[in-house]
Amino acid sequence: MRDMIRATLGRRILGAILALGLTLSPAFAGGKKHADIENIGKRDINKGSWNLYSVEREIALGRFLANDVERTSRLLQDPVVTEYVNRVAQNLVRNSDAKVPFVIKVVDSDEMNAFALPGGFFYINTGLVLAADNEAELAGVMAHEIAHVAARHATKQATKAQIINWLSIPLIFIGGPVGYGIQQAASLAIPLTFLKFSRNAEREADYLGLEYAYRTGYDPLAFIEFFEKVRKKEKEKKGTIPRAFSTHPMTEDRIKKAQEEINLVLPAREDYVLDTSEFAQIKTRLKLMQAQRVSSDERAPTLRRREQSPKNEKRPDKSEQDEGQPPPLKRRSE
Ligand code: ZN
Repeated sequence: MRDMIRATLGRRILGAILALGLTLSPAFAGGKKHADIENIGKRDINKGSWNLYSVEREIALGRFLANDVERTSRLLQDPVVTEYVNRVAQNLVRNSDAKVPFVIKVVDSDEMNAFALPGGFFYINTGLVLAADNEAELAGVMAHEIAHVAARHATKQATKAQIINWLSIPLIFIGGPVGYGIQQAASLAIPLTFLKFSRNAEREADYLGLEYAYRTGYDPLAFIEFFEKVRKKEKEKKGTIPRAFSTHPMTEDRIKKAQEEINLVLPAREDYVLDTSEFAQIKTRLKLMQAQRVSSDERAPTLRRREQSPKNEKRPDKSEQDEGQPPPLKRRSE
C-alpha cells in the first residue's frame, strides 16, 4: 500500500516535470522525425531525451548483462556461420546511428530469437537464421535490434524507472548515482527489464530499422514480410511464437505504420538486395549441423561402442577375433 502511494506520488511529480516541458523520451511520432536518411550516422537521434547513463556506463551495463547471457547459453563455435552473421550485422551497424561498437555472437538455439543488450552486445540465435527465407529478412530483424541500441531504449527506460524510483523514496536514502545502474541490474532479470520496450520504442525501432536496412541496400519490405509470416504461423498453430516475438508483438497497427513509413521516407529503388547465395549456403550448413546432432543423439548408445574401432578396415580383425573367442553369451546358452 505504501509502495502504491509512493508510486502514485512519483508518477504525479513525474507528470508535473513532464508538464514543465522536461521530456524523458519524446513520443515518437514517426512521419518527419529522423526522416533525413542521408544523415544516418552523422545525426543525433537521441537529442533532447533524458538519459542518466553515459555511453561508458551503458557499455559497462551491457557487458555485465552479456556475462549473464553467456553463462546460461551455448554459443555457436562454427567459424563460417559466425563470420557470416558478423559481417551482415556489422554492415548494418555501419549504416546505423549507433555510437557504440557492436559485439556480435551467434547462440546455438532453435528458438527464433535475436536481442541486443544496451551497449551493443548482440545475440542472434541459429533458429532465427533458419526461420528467415532470405538475407533481407534476417537483416530486417537485425536492423530492428540495432535500432533499439542506437536509440538507447534500454537505458532511457531504466532512466525513467530510476527517476520514478527516486521521486518515490525519501531523498535521504539516495546515494551517489554512480554504479547504481549496475547495482539495479544485478537484482533484475534481463529479458523483461532490458528487452521489453514500450510500444513507442518499438515503433521507433521499426522505423529506424527499416531505414538502416534500406541504407545498407536491403529491401525494407522483407522485415514486414517476415513478421507477417510469423503471425500466420502463430494463427495456424497457437503457441509457436517464441518469447522474442511476444515481447515484440507485431500488431497490425505496427505493420501498417511501417508500411506507411516505407512509402513516406524511403524513396523507391530499382534494385534491392533480397537474397545472396551465401545465405542459402549458411542455412544448408546449419541444417546439416542440426541433422548431425539429431542423428548422433539417436545413435548415442551404439556409437559409443563403435568409437573404439571407427574404421571399417578393422572389422575383419574383429570377426576373426570373434571366431577365435566365442562371445561369452553364446556359451552360457549352451
Ligand atoms: Zn523491438
